[in-house]
Amino acid sequence: LPQVIIIGRPNVGKSTLFNRLVGKKLALVDDQPGVTRDRRFGEAHLLGLDFTIVDTAGWEDEDAASLPGRMRQQTEASLKGADVALFVIDARAGITPLDEEIARYLRTSTVPIVLLANKAEGRSGDPGIYEAFSLGFGEPVALSAEHGQGMADLFEALLPHLDDKQAEHEAEVEASQEEEDYDPQAILKLAIVGRPNAGKSTLINALLREDRLLTGPEAGITRDSIAVDWTWTDPKTKAERPVRLIDTAGMRKKAQVVDKLEKLSVADARHAIDFAEVVVLLLDATRGLEHQDLKIASLVLEEGRALIIAINKWDVAEDASGLFNGVRAALDEGLAQVRGVPLLSVSARTGKGLDTMIQAAFDIRDAWSKRVPTAALNRWFDDALAANPPPAPGGRRIKLRYITQAKTRPPGFVLFGTRLDMLPESYRRYLVNGIRRELGFEAVPIRLTLRSPK
Ligand code: GDP
Repeated sequence: LPQVIIIGRPNVGKSTLFNRLVGKKLALVDDQPGVTRDRRFGEAHLLGLDFTIVDTAGWEDEDAASLPGRMRQQTEASLKGADVALFVIDARAGITPLDEEIARYLRTSTVPIVLLANKAEGRSGDPGIYEAFSLGFGEPVALSAEHGQGMADLFEALLPHLDDKQAEHEAEVEASQEEEDYDPQAILKLAIVGRPNAGKSTLINALLREDRLLTGPEAGITRDSIAVDWTWTDPKTKAERPVRLIDTAGMRKKAQVVDKLEKLSVADARHAIDFAEVVVLLLDATRGLEHQDLKIASLVLEEGRALIIAINKWDVAEDASGLFNGVRAALDEGLAQVRGVPLLSVSARTGKGLDTMIQAAFDIRDAWSKRVPTAALNRWFDDALAANPPPAPGGRRIKLRYITQAKTRPPGFVLFGTRLDMLPESYRRYLVNGIRRELGFEAVPIRLTLRSPK
């Protein structure tokens, strides 16, 4: 983790700031061997930033006469491993000779300095803030460590110095997790859902190439879903890949009232989603895309599963291209959450398109499980902001700072910035579509969380 050190004369509020940044999780390690009792170390969390925070307050209680000299010694020692130094002054007290003394040697340091004017709650710190410019570190960040004010400004001041470090750190963590997180060769959990008579059981039988499941009007009755482990042989590479097929309604008694079955098919889909990584929604070419289908599709996406739509009974489709284009258009219109959901045509009866369908399922699972390193993500992000800057409602620009991928399966991203509550939905969509198109998450449900400081 990057290291941030707090520097300043006694009583400016260094420990209060330290405690504020470390929060409840007081991971103090000051009694570890090798760590002097002059310094406290803690794990700090500031909005999206994680860093080690170092408080140098421990040595202050000693003999006051030698204070400046010892302070210099201490500061120099602790600056060695630091990535950034927070130089704290007391905005109410104004600048003292000791502050000036510290500033003098900090100016010679190669470590970036962020000047903090603490105790600035209300307006009582204003004169001190103004005076602080004279220290030569630019505009101070006004904050109140005690009241937790100004933490967003501190975040913004720290970010340029910690960005790369943070990205590096996250990339390391990600890289170490990646292997255990996702194995592209692991068994593919695939659910086939769809309205009654779409051909789910027929399709599963065709895949398994044996009549393991009953199909047709005289099928048996069961409410349980059926999982079958099966090995798909890729016709191109001859590679054998394991698949767990989940069939939900295939064996349900067909004589039940159609109306009831309609409702059940949604419930079945919900059930299947719990098991599946990828869901194939089967449509019936003789009926096209119906309201119920869109409902199931939305459900799958809302639950964050990867979705493929396959139009079955292609062997008996009339006006095949008209049907395909019609369904495509209706999907793009009706499934606003995810543009470009894969749409395929298959025939459970002839076997047409089935290998393509399974291949598509493996492919979309890869995208659904993918993690983009933070550095690459933020390179894209910077370009996206440059090409289309966020709006400035009321003349004040929304600041978008940093984005990170917090999870996979489905991919979840967290965007850090200020005034994010003002971010228009259209701009959010712009970012989500960019992530999809530019970073290889095409047709995958994506979550984008906005995180603004309080
Ligand atoms: P399920 O309710 O979704 O499991 O549907 P079934 O698999 O029981 O199939 C319903 C009906 O559609 C049966 O009569 C099947 O023979 C028929 N069917 C299924 N797939 C196809 C196909 O690809 N082409 C044609 N022409 N008929 C199909």
